[in-house]
Amino acid sequence: MLLFYLSLPSFFLFPNMYYIIFSGCFFCTNTNMMLVKFQSIPYPVFPGGAIIGCSAGFLNVPKIKGTHTAMKSGMLAAEAAFNVLHEGLNMETYWDNLKNSWIWKELYEARNYRPAFEYGLVPGLAISAIEHYILKGKFPFTLKHGKPDHEATNVAELHQQIHYPKPDGVLSFDVPTSLHRSNTNHEHDQPAHLRLRDPKIPELVNLPEYAGPESRYCPARVYEYNPDENGQVKLQINAQNCLHCKACDIKDPKQNIEWTVPEGGGGPGYSVM
Ligand SMILES: Cc1cc2nc3c(=O)[nH]c(=O)nc-3n(C[C@H](O)[C@H](O)[C@H](O)COP(=O)(O)OP(=O)(O)OC[C@H]3O[C@@H](n4cnc5c(N)ncnc54)[C@H](O)[C@@H]3O)c2cc1C
Ligand code: SF4
Repeated sequence: MLLFYLSLPSFFLFPNMYYIIFSGCFFCTNTNMMLVKFQSIPYPVFPGGAIIGCSAGFLNVPKIKGTHTAMKSGMLAAEAAFNVLHEGLNMETYWDNLKNSWIWKELYEARNYRPAFEYGLVPGLAISAIEHYILKGKFPFTLKHGKPDHEATNVAELHQQIHYPKPDGVLSFDVPTSLHRSNTNHEHDQPAHLRLRDPKIPELVNLPEYAGPESRYCPARVYEYNPDENGQVKLQINAQNCLHCKACDIKDPKQNIEWTVPEGGGGPGYSVM
């Protein structure tokens, strides 16, 4: 498992990277990208509302941009809602207008980019380059996704542990420092928003079979395996540190972690974005 929050700092430690970074402007956040693709766009209308922006998966993956599609889909939804109130139409028009808008065309042309990497890095790059530069999205087929993210989590014995260099405190920082900078906060007396469907699975399955992946992929060290007073290793969940990246929601191998919405106002408070 390649950990972005650990591997990006390692990238910063490459020779001369200091000068590259400080000659420009480079921000790194712990937020996950919504790499949902055209193939996965849900029907975005439901009684009383509509799904817009990244919630519906409108990020353009090769461009890594989604603010334009988020704004446009919001405008289309607002127009549809206006017509519901004033013309007696229904919200279905949002779906129709979405499919007739440039959002649809743009996301259609980029649809094979992410699934192409299911075949490996080099084939993925080759397919993406052909699609993007030569065929301009006119591939005669649409690649499917292999499996959900949690099924792609392999057992630990199939992999070698990656050893990341220690943070240098100049370009790369340890987790507590990064967490402090995220200003994440939750009221301490609220019900924990991270729950386990079966509290035994971490110790019976996740730790012995998968080497406790939640204690590795979580960028906020919310999940910690610690010995209790009898020496038994138990999972401790520090939910107040959660950065709302939702990696645990999609990546837990047994889908045992239930991510519920915390009290309003909780979560990260990035001040420089
Ligand atoms: C590191 C990074 C870099 C990016 N760079 C670019 C870029 O350069 N250009 C570009 O175009 N796009 C970029 N994107 C993508 C872009 O940020 C998103 O596509 C865009 O922000 C999506 O907008 P949105 O309004 O759909 O969702 P968001 O911007 O995610 O807004 C959703 C809001 O809902 C709030 N929320 C969530 N749940 C609840 C709840 N239960 N109750 C109340 N509020 C809730 C969240 O706190 C958030 O404020 C980047 C994304 C990341 C992560
Ligand atoms: S607890 Fe889950 S959602 Fe919160 S920061 Fe960790 S991995 Fe992300």
